[in-house]
Amino acid sequence: MKLKYYILTIFIFPSCLIAFGQFGKIQGQVNDIRENKGLAFANVWLVGTNLGAATDLNGQFVIDSILPGKYDIKTSIIGYGDTTLTGVKITSDTTVLVLLGLPRPCKYDKHRNNKTCPICGKKNKVVPIAYGLMIGKMNKRNFYYAGCEITSCDPNWFCKRDKYKF
Ligand SMILES: [Zn+2]
Repeated sequence: MKLKYYILTIFIFPSCLIAFGQFGKIQGQVNDIRENKGLAFANVWLVGTNLGAATDLNGQFVIDSILPGKYDIKTSIIGYGDTTLTGVKITSDTTVLVLLGLPRPCKYDKHRNNKTCPICGKKNKVVPIAYGLMIGKMNKRNFYYAGCEITSCDPNWFCKRDKYKF
């Protein structure tokens, strides 16, 4: 019986502190930036503490029992890498809403520093792809002009032999 009371005391103590407004709370949402939809099962934690949470099916999370202060909030999910929101101020008895975005992995990233064409396996017909406005005369043999539209995931190279962007 004595042990039971002891455990009960331990668990009641922190909840009393919350009730009196000593701690802050972060409520947030982790989204895929490109599709603007929630990401489930992302890990969210406060750097330098053992406080953290995982997002639910809608990408939402709650971290409570946070001592007032400034924190960096880090988010990661397999296949997306990670992102950090720095200097989030948590005050007592305050709920802070945080929207974190994780960029989707870009299929062209692995070719960024590799101009070998994945189709012919050669480099000699591969030119860099240029985006943006063409100013003045440019030698079109040395690059491939892809226009002005830039998304967050664009190919970097063009193989003239295979007419393939990668
Ligand atoms: Zn090729």
